[in-house]
Formats: sequence, C-alpha cells, structure tokens
Amino acid sequence: MKILENYSLLAHNSFKLNVKTRWFVEYESESDLQKLLRDEYFFSQAFWHIGNGCNLLFLSDFNGIIVHSGIRGIEKIAEDADSITLKVGAAEMMDDLIRQCVEQGWGGIENLSLIPSEVGASAFQNIGAYGVEAGDCIEEVHAYAVKTGEKRIFSRAECQFAYRHTFFKKPEERGLHYITHVVYKLSKKPVFKLDYGNLRSTLEGKAITLQTVREAVIAIRKSRLPDPEVLGNAGSFFLNAYVCKLHFEALHKQYPDMPHFFEPEKTDDGKEIVKIPAAWLIDQCGLKGKTLGGAAVYEKNPLVLVNQNNATADDIVHLAEEIRATVEAKFGIELSPEVNYI
Ligand SMILES: Cc1cc2nc3c(=O)[nH]c(=O)nc-3n(C[C@H](O)[C@H](O)[C@H](O)COP(=O)(O)OP(=O)(O)OC[C@H]3O[C@@H](n4cnc5c(N)ncnc54)[C@H](O)[C@@H]3O)c2cc1C
Repeated sequence: MKILENYSLLAHNSFKLNVKTRWFVEYESESDLQKLLRDEYFFSQAFWHIGNGCNLLFLSDFNGIIVHSGIRGIEKIAEDADSITLKVGAAEMMDDLIRQCVEQGWGGIENLSLIPSEVGASAFQNIGAYGVEAGDCIEEVHAYAVKTGEKRIFSRAECQFAYRHTFFKKPEERGLHYITHVVYKLSKKPVFKLDYGNLRSTLEGKAITLQTVREAVIAIRKSRLPDPEVLGNAGSFFLNAYVCKLHFEALHKQYPDMPHFFEPEKTDDGKEIVKIPAAWLIDQCGLKGKTLGGAAVYEKNPLVLVNQNNATADDIVHLAEEIRATVEAKFGIELSPEVNYI
C-alpha cells in the first residue's frame, strides 16, 4: 500500500489545479483494501476515492485521505464462439482496454475510445459517447462496502445503469462502495453503432471495422475536445437537459431550430420527456469563449470549461454559476453539473 503525506494532486485532476491532500493512499490489492477498511484512523478522517481525476473539481486542499486503486490486470474469464468475458482491474485505463479489445477483434466499447477514465470509474459513472454506454457491455462490478468491508458482486441490473447514472452515483450510495474490478463482456461479432454525431460521415469511403471506427471516434474527439495535458478541463461540465413535453413545446415555438430528442422513458406521472443538448442552450446564450478569471468556456465546444490561464477553483465555480443562471433566465432550464465537486 502506498501512503503519501501532504501530496500534490496536480497529476490527479484534469483541471490541473494545484491542490494538495493531507494523505494519499493507493491500495494495490483486495487484501490491502480490506486492511484499509478495518483501519480506525481511516474512519476518523474525511476520505474520498478518486480514479484518474478527469471528472473532479477540487474546491480546495483536501484535509483528509484521498484513496486511489492501484489494482490492475486484464483476465479472460469466459469465452465462447460469440463472446469473450474479461475481468479488469479498476486502475486500468479504459482506452488501453479498448485498444487491446479492438486489436483482438472484440467489439462493444470501441465508440468509447479516448474517454479519459479508469475502468473502475467507467462503471461508477457509466461513461458514454457516440450512442454507446459502458453499462451496455458490463456484466458485473466487484466492489467492497466501505462501512462493513464486505465484498459484493453487482449484476448489471443491480448497477442501475442510465444516462451518466448508476447505483453507485445515487446521493444515498455515493462513496459507500469501492470498485476493484469490472467484468466486461465483448462480442466477437461486433454490431457497429454509427448513427450518432458525424461518425458515419467521418467513415465514408472506408471499410467499417473496429479499428476504423476507433480511429474515427478518436479523430472526431480530438477535433472537438481539448487535451487536458494542454488545456485543463473535465470534459462536459454539464449534463444534457431533460424537460417535460409541455415545456419543450413552449420553447420549440420560440426556437424552432432547437435540437431535441424524445426519450423512450416517461416521468413518474406519465409525461413524455425531451432531451435538449446543454451545449446548444449555452451556445444560444452567447457564452462561447466567455472568460472569468483564468477560466473560460471552450471556443470549440461550449459544454467544456477550461483552465485557460492559471484558473482557481473559484474561477471555474463562478463561471459555471454564471452559465447556469444565464441559461435558466433565458430558457427556464436548470443545468446540473456532470463534474463532481470535492
Ligand atoms: C477531455 C475529456 C473528455 C471526456 N469525455 C467524456 C465522454 O465522452 N463521456 C463521458 O461519459 N465522460 C467523459 N469525460 C469525463 C470523464 O472522463 C469520466 O467521467 C470518467 O469516468 C472519469 O474517470 P476517472 O478515472 O478520471 O474518475 P474520477 O474523475 O477520478 O472519478 C469519477 C467518480 O468515480 C468515482 N470513482 C472512481 N474510481 C472509483 C473506484 N475504483 N471505486 C469507487 N468509486 C470510484 C469517484 O469517487 C468519482 O465520484 C471526459 C473528460 C475529459 C477530461
């Protein structure tokens, strides 16, 4: 187990804020984790488990214990003519896993190429892109309950995967389970999903293979999203907006060009739900390129807030608040942050 004191989290947050933690603990095995979850000092402190830090906003130094998994490894646990099942350590990077799967001809997660995420976080967050979500291919999530130290294997149904949402993200469950492994089931007969964004047009004239799809996704992402190593950011700062049909119709009269998608699910009281891209709402408010202190709305994609010039956490928070207030005043829609504030 690695234990470091007064440790800088600069390399562990993609906003590239120079925050510190009192303690940084990295467990390398399940038995290390079990030891940690029996430690009295641990429970006397504030603690928070992180992945690669690509969806986090540290509001200040962390006076407690930041926990990180060091569990790695990709193990083949089942195989038949159609599929392959892999048990993957939480600390593996998703894009390394995807690259290896694509090389082997195993399909299902190629549309998630280049999302900066550890495998543990891929299940915690249900990462998604280009019409595919991690939960589509996850069979099981292996985790330890923080309060009892007991191991629990969650089936796909128990993970409750939905748009950027899972059982682990529920407010009453958040932080209560540490994920050690994720079991991915991939197909040897891939079914390609190309109807999202400009994926199909990017592939025009090319043979459709796992490799060409992966390359197309990477090329599109590189043209739209800033590289956190160059310009600190946490990807989409806000979730897309969901409104009821009545609200949508009123807006649609005023903004006939508003992009919108009717959702298959309904509200608890049976009303239809319509998704409106948050990027469009922010763009319509003329906020692209807006700066506040060192923070800015990314010029090429208004859903992304960037650390343009030594931003502080306050700069980013205040810019996000201004965006929320402006969008709410114009459209009556309250945007929710996708990024985890710590
Ligand atoms: C440039 C860029 C592009 C992005 N594009 C996308 C995209 O297309 N789609 C998308 O869905 N996301 C996207 N994101 C967001 C981000 O990549 C995902 O949210 C990702 O899952 C974060 O992974 P991470 O390992 O950095 O986790 P962190 O940000 O460190 O943690 C995320 C959450 O997971 C929890 N967690 C992490 N590991 C564990 C574990 N082992 N056990 C228990 N809890 C854990 C943390 O407590 C935290 O609540 C993007 C981010 C960036 C910077």
